[in-house]
Amino acid sequence: MTTEYRNFFHYSSRLNMAGVLGDVHVELLKLKKADSWFMFTRDLLLKHEILTSTLDVNDEYDDPNKSKSLRKNGNVFFKARLYWKAVDMYNRCLKACKPNTECHALAQANRSAAYFHMGQYEHCLKDALCVVESDNYPSNLVYKLHERIGHVEHILGYTERAKKSYALCLKRLDEADMSAVKKRKFRMAISIAVSNCEEVEEEPTKSTTTMETLCVEQLVGGKNENIPALSAFVELKLSENMGRGVYATCDINPGDVVAIDEPYICGPLSEFREVCHYNGCMKIHSSLIHCPKCLLVFYCNKDCMNKDYKDGHNLLCPIMYHIKSRPGITKINELAIKWFLRAYSKMGLKKYCAIVDNFSESKIDPIKRGFDEIGQYKSDDFLTAYSLDIIVNEMSIDVLFFFNCIAVDMLHYLMLSGFKIPECYIAS
Ligand SMILES: [Zn+2]
Ligand SMILES: [Zn+2]
Repeated sequence: MTTEYRNFFHYSSRLNMAGVLGDVHVELLKLKKADSWFMFTRDLLLKHEILTSTLDVNDEYDDPNKSKSLRKNGNVFFKARLYWKAVDMYNRCLKACKPNTECHALAQANRSAAYFHMGQYEHCLKDALCVVESDNYPSNLVYKLHERIGHVEHILGYTERAKKSYALCLKRLDEADMSAVKKRKFRMAISIAVSNCEEVEEEPTKSTTTMETLCVEQLVGGKNENIPALSAFVELKLSENMGRGVYATCDINPGDVVAIDEPYICGPLSEFREVCHYNGCMKIHSSLIHCPKCLLVFYCNKDCMNKDYKDGHNLLCPIMYHIKSRPGITKINELAIKWFLRAYSKMGLKKYCAIVDNFSESKIDPIKRGFDEIGQYKSDDFLTAYSLDIIVNEMSIDVLFFFNCIAVDMLHYLMLSGFKIPECYIAS
C-alpha cells in the first residue's frame, strides 16, 4: 500500500465505519466550487470528530530518559575520540530534550567540547556561548565552559575577548568541586594562557572575503528579457503535454547558472538538518541551533531564527510537531502551509483572501495565469505560487475529498494554535 493511500484512509476509514463515505462522494459531486467543497468537508470532519481537539504533545516527544541515554552514548564516542559520532549523538539528544533544561545545556556543552577537538572552533564557540547564556549548566562546571571559550577566542585571534573569558573562568572557579591544590594548578594554567594572549595584542583584521564575494554567480547567456531572474538560455512557457515549466532554448553546460532568485520559501528540509531553515538563507552549516520551542527547525543563528519567525514560523511553530506526525499531512502540505504563512505575514489576511477570491472568480485558464495576452510572463510572488495550483477537474472525487480533508485539518491546527480567522474568510 502506498503512503498516499494509507494517508487517505486516515480520513476515509472513519467515515466508512460510520457508513457515510458513499454519501459524502455523492454530496461532493453536487457541489461545484472550491469554497463549498471546503466548507462541506469541514462540517463533516467536525461532525464525525475526526479533527483533533488539543495540541497536547505525547511524552515521546520530550523523553528525559531517552535524551539522557543519547547523551551518554555521545560521551562514549567522545572518550573514544570518535568526535563526529559524538556530535551526531548530541544532536539527537538535543532534539529529544526540552530547551532551557539542564539536559539540553549538558548536551550542547558536550557538543561544543567535541567541536573543539575537531578543530571546529566557530561551532565550538557558538555552542559554548549559548550554554553560558542559557544559565542552565551546573554551576560547579561553568568555569570549564569559560576556559574553553577563552581558548577558542585566543585561537581565533580575539585576544581581548579571550582575556575576559579567562577572567570569568577564574571567577567561577570558586564554585568548582576541586581540591585546593588542583585549583591552584588550574589558576596557574589560566594565567599562562592569559600571558600568551598578551603576546598577540592586536585584534586580527577579520577576513571579509565571504563566499558571496568569492563567487559572484553570473547567468549564462545574460538575463532573460521577460524574467530577469532567469538566464536568456531558458524560457518559461506552457506545453500541452507537460504544462507550465522552464524550458531550455539551447544547449546548457553542467554547472551553468540558469536562475538567480531569492527563495520565497524553502523545504522540505527535515532530512537535511545541516541546512538553515530560514527561507532567505538555506546555508549549509554543521552546528545549527534549533528553534527552542518546536525543536523541529534549525537555523545558523538567532538572526536567521528571528527572520523566520517574522516569515511565519511564529504561527507554524506551535503546530509543527502535530502537522509532521499527522498521517494525512505530507511534506508538500507542510510546504504549502509554510507558503501560506509567509504570504499571510507579508500581506495580511484581508489582502490575501481578496487575491484568492479574485483568482477563484477569474475566468482565466489556471494554466495560463501569470501570462499576459501576448504570452509574456508577468508574475509576482503570490501569483507565482498560486499558479502552481492543481487542475481540479482532472482529479478523482476521492482525491478531491482527501485534499479538502488535509486543507481542513491544517486550518484547524492553525486555529487551535491561536490563529485568528474571521468566519467570513474561512472558505477562502
Ligand atoms: Zn541561516
Ligand atoms: Zn519552532
